Amino acid sequence: MINTKSLTECALQLHKSIKFGKSCVRNLSVSQTKMSDIEKKFVLPKRFEGSEKSVWNEYIQLSLEYKPLNLGQGFPDFPPPKYVTDALSQVATGDNCMVHQYTRGFGHPRLIAALAKLYSKLIGRDIDPQTEILTTLGAYEALFSTISGHVDYGDEVIIIEPFFDCYEPMVKYAGGVPRFIPLRLKEEVSGRSISSADYILDKDDLERTFNCKTKAIILNTPNNPLGKVFTEEELSHIADLCKKWNVLCISDEVYEWIVYKPHKHIRIATLPGMWERTITIGSAGKTFSVTGWKLGWAYGPANLLVNLQIIHQNSVYTGVTPIQEATAIAFEKELTRLNDDECYFNSISVELEPKKNYIANFLQEAGMKPVIPEGGYFMIADWSPLESKVDLNSEKDKYRDYRFTKWMTKNVGLQAIPSTAFYSVPHKPLAENYVRYCFIKKDENLKQAAELLRKWKNGQK
Ligand code: PMP
Ligand code: GLN
Repeated sequence: MINTKSLTECALQLHKSIKFGKSCVRNLSVSQTKMSDIEKKFVLPKRFEGSEKSVWNEYIQLSLEYKPLNLGQGFPDFPPPKYVTDALSQVATGDNCMVHQYTRGFGHPRLIAALAKLYSKLIGRDIDPQTEILTTLGAYEALFSTISGHVDYGDEVIIIEPFFDCYEPMVKYAGGVPRFIPLRLKEEVSGRSISSADYILDKDDLERTFNCKTKAIILNTPNNPLGKVFTEEELSHIADLCKKWNVLCISDEVYEWIVYKPHKHIRIATLPGMWERTITIGSAGKTFSVTGWKLGWAYGPANLLVNLQIIHQNSVYTGVTPIQEATAIAFEKELTRLNDDECYFNSISVELEPKKNYIANFLQEAGMKPVIPEGGYFMIADWSPLESKVDLNSEKDKYRDYRFTKWMTKNVGLQAIPSTAFYSVPHKPLAENYVRYCFIKKDENLKQAAELLRKWKNGQK
């Protein structure tokens, strides 16, 4: 019979040993020894080691605790387009009760049809909705299925820094070896404002990173957190190396519609010889400003996509039917007006442009040095000129950008994300002077952020 009392004691002790660190485990009594066995046996499996910390979980908790004005995590704080939310309510309350049941595992038929229509136009080839598209639980799952489905033990995967933080653990979970290559700030930028275009990949470094063990490269354009939009020349260089070394290109294009004029988003799958070796990833969360919908997709040639389907069918199996149906309706509407100004894919960047300029100005006024993004809705800024106004010693974190952002959250009431979260350990020092602000926020909240910084600068806080 199970002794519930000792189980409760066990649980309590386990809780204590976790809370107070491993040292207390050594002093356990006989019944407590069991605890230490439990603890020993159920540690995180080795392959996941090193991925325990998440900047998102940490900073969302911080924001719940201190209730700052949150320019940290990337999500809009205003309503999505009305026709998008109308589509969801229409789906939820309409007559077709089947939208509340499981749908086709690799993608809801109405949605894959819409995605195939859209991307066939954009890529300039007929995309087969049945075999060349997979819908997923957010772009996260598309990344996970792509990486798990293609990376084998010992395979090298090139990751361009700064990178969206989940790439590194996902590659390691698959048994792969990440090879990092940082974008570097050009030398001749002093005395003028800096743009994300000033960050470039050193061609020789990149060439040296490819070798016969390279399985894939992960590209993110427009880039999170930098906002860099890769040029045709840069993409062609990456493409040539992928072809030379027979490498898969995993192209994370979740911000494909958020690009500021005169810059243009180029899909690497459209470059000569690249469709055959590219998986491109998108997100409804970014496309329609509904990050909570957690709907993503991957498209690419059937022979590459099948590996993702295998991972997906045995881990997730199928996506959320009503969300996929509503997103299909939203795409169908946009497909009728792709070249019009009102098309959300065209209007979103126009709407964000003044917000981008506004935040750049107030960060500058506060004494920071913002890096003007060419795309996406984040801005990184060099905060180091403000170092003397901040008590970095009051925070315990190893990296200065973590200490700065935590101090600002608690003392100024403004939250940002530390930039080192987007770098590998050896390259984190490159990013310690930078933090990332999200500007897809209501004007009144951006104004309030400006006000908080102004007051702080003038010593009123
Ligand atoms: N890639 C990048 C570059 C991102 O910024 C994000 C964050 N949304 C994702 C992938 C994941 O997207 P989703 O929320 O659709 O899972
Ligand atoms: N992509 C969003 C960002 O960069 C959200 C990330 C997340 O919540 N994991 O802020």
